[in-house]
Amino acid sequence: MPDVEQLSQNFENVQRRIMQACEKANRPVESVQLLAVSKTKPIDAVNAIAKLGQTDFGENYLQESLQKITERPDLTWHFIGPIQSNKTKSIAENFAWVHSIDRLKIAERLSRQRPKELPPLHVLLEVNIDNEASKSGFHPDEAQDICEKVLALPNLELRGLMAIPQATDNVEKQHHAFAQMHQLLEHLQKKFPNAQLDTLSMGMSGDLEAAIAEGATIVRIGTDIFGARNYS
Ligand SMILES: *Cc1c(COP(=O)(O)O)cnc(C)c1O
Repeated sequence: MPDVEQLSQNFENVQRRIMQACEKANRPVESVQLLAVSKTKPIDAVNAIAKLGQTDFGENYLQESLQKITERPDLTWHFIGPIQSNKTKSIAENFAWVHSIDRLKIAERLSRQRPKELPPLHVLLEVNIDNEASKSGFHPDEAQDICEKVLALPNLELRGLMAIPQATDNVEKQHHAFAQMHQLLEHLQKKFPNAQLDTLSMGMSGDLEAAIAEGATIVRIGTDIFGARNYS
């Protein structure tokens, strides 16, 4: 059983950090949404955090997430992990959001496989902002072209961008990557003024303050809510 006392303390701490970062950045606290990343954590831990008012949860691994979604279909589930083609159908059927669109083919499949009775799937383009060879995501230069193509897909609602910058303790470097993401989103908003491109998913346990200072609208927090993971 999870330590509910500890979880609620963690949750309060994260909420306080978000509030303070918003204050410092002169942003309303409602402009930043907390996504609780529950990957590898049991449904009991999800239930404990949901009880505190949290509605949105992020998952990376399809198999374990489907069990949790079956138990809590009332919550809003975001898929944030790497996507293999053979997983798109199940993702299209079970999630409200997908943050990790890193190939056009994945977006096309999700659109085709989104059940007609569900609202459009909210999606974000993952950007490889540090241009790391090991990382998935579009190169920033590709973003406009991909954006145009994804906007044309019928059953998806493209909402913006997501990034996982290189982990670093260097606060200046954190700000730099997030600021580049903000600029890229602004560029796309100008190019596609009729699209609802209002979302920047960036910032994790170690860098949520920098992300909020640079305009994050969703921060994805795992460790600092649920504790360290046994596997990643
Ligand atoms: C695991 C994960 C997170 C949460 O990271 P923490 O450092 O544990 O807060 C956020 N985003 C993605 C894409 C992840 O895979």
